[in-house]
Amino acid sequence: MNAPLPVEVLKQHLIDPEICIRCNTCEETCPVDAITHDSNNYVVDPDICNGCMACVPPCPTGSIDNWRLVVRAQAYSVQDQLGWEELPKETSLPADADAAPAPAQAADAQAAAAMPAPAMVAGAAVPPWSAAHPYVNLYTHKTPITATVVGNYRVTGADTESDIHHIVLDFGEQPFPVLEGQSIGILPPGTDAQGRPHHARQYSLASPRDGERAGYNNLSLTVKRVTQDHGGAAAHGVCSNYLCDLARNDTVQVIGPFGHTFLMPNHPRANLIMICTGTGSAPMRAMTERSRRLIGTNEIGKLMLFFGARTERELPYFGPLMKLPRDFIDINLALSREAGQPKRYVQDLIRERAGQVRELLADRNTCIYVCGLKGMEVGVLDALREVMMQAGEDWSILHDVLRREGRLHFETY
Ligand code: NAP
Repeated sequence: MNAPLPVEVLKQHLIDPEICIRCNTCEETCPVDAITHDSNNYVVDPDICNGCMACVPPCPTGSIDNWRLVVRAQAYSVQDQLGWEELPKETSLPADADAAPAPAQAADAQAAAAMPAPAMVAGAAVPPWSAAHPYVNLYTHKTPITATVVGNYRVTGADTESDIHHIVLDFGEQPFPVLEGQSIGILPPGTDAQGRPHHARQYSLASPRDGERAGYNNLSLTVKRVTQDHGGAAAHGVCSNYLCDLARNDTVQVIGPFGHTFLMPNHPRANLIMICTGTGSAPMRAMTERSRRLIGTNEIGKLMLFFGARTERELPYFGPLMKLPRDFIDINLALSREAGQPKRYVQDLIRERAGQVRELLADRNTCIYVCGLKGMEVGVLDALREVMMQAGEDWSILHDVLRREGRLHFETY
């Protein structure tokens, strides 16, 4: 008599609908198109997902990192998941379930092994030890908070292509606690081409924890009007145009706050190395302003800023930035298209300032923050490696320490 076939078990990848902010990052990242969404949920198709994990590191909330052991024949379908309000409870497997991967899963595993491995995460997964406690996910897409626009003005030269706005949102009497380095989601009104509500867009805070205006319950964002796609073809950014066109007293639906690692150290005399391009300057403005408000106390350490933009007139906040005292912040501007000047990127300036960078890196009170274009990530890491190598030091050892101690953070798109 034949023995019954073992029941095939699947480690099913699921997204927690209570935490997911519907920002579309996972769907954009998934290399095999296993993630889809409707107006209710983002879900993973168990017939397509190969568990490659590419979607896990970029998720801003961690809602993507959920798994259930299920009998493969009873895996939660896409339709099931689209209807969920919360994740199902863990259930126990039948006694005859085969914990070893069944043939189909083994084939999946082989396919996953053949795929390019997800890039090593360059930054830390933990905040600096002294970071203040962040509040996250206080407002979700089902319970957004309404903010009122109290300011909206352009922070780049009017004659340039870079239309970047500084937008101030006020929360009135409603609690909305934030820290520098955190982000919020904006729900643009209307629906996409498939008739689904637009997904939330994430923006980093440009203001410090105690408000754009100290003591007020408000915050600011740095938003670039998107009129072209990455290839230079005409494109209309749904949320950026919506935000840049808002008038005073308009209201906006906000979710968040998000982010629990890209946070500044909170202990006296911690140093910051801030490296950014374009609107990636938002969290650097927040951290700089937090520190500026502490001038006169014994609390602030050294601030070193590397800031890349095409020209001075396209560099957001150029005027106020240049007014900051030189003994408060060491400013290094990398201009890539300034007439009559050689093209320079932030990584070129990191190499030029190698001595000072090394001095700061030698201090365990130093944290590094990198925010802006995705392409700068590799360039910055190469520059830091070279800076250390010049002094005969091994960057890979320091890199591991910085990641482990929550002292190196990336937010690049
Ligand atoms: P951008 O104007 O396109 O570029 C800024 C500067 O970076 C330019 O000088 C550019 O030089 C240079 N650059 C291009 N490639 C580079 C590379 N591989 N390494 C170093 N520098 C490089 O910038 P943007 O349009 O403002 O984009 C900023 C990015 O920040 C966006 O991807 C955005 O999503 C992201 N971000 C925004 C926020 C926010 O809250 N708004 C928050 C986090 C991140 P050339 O173009 O002359 O080559």
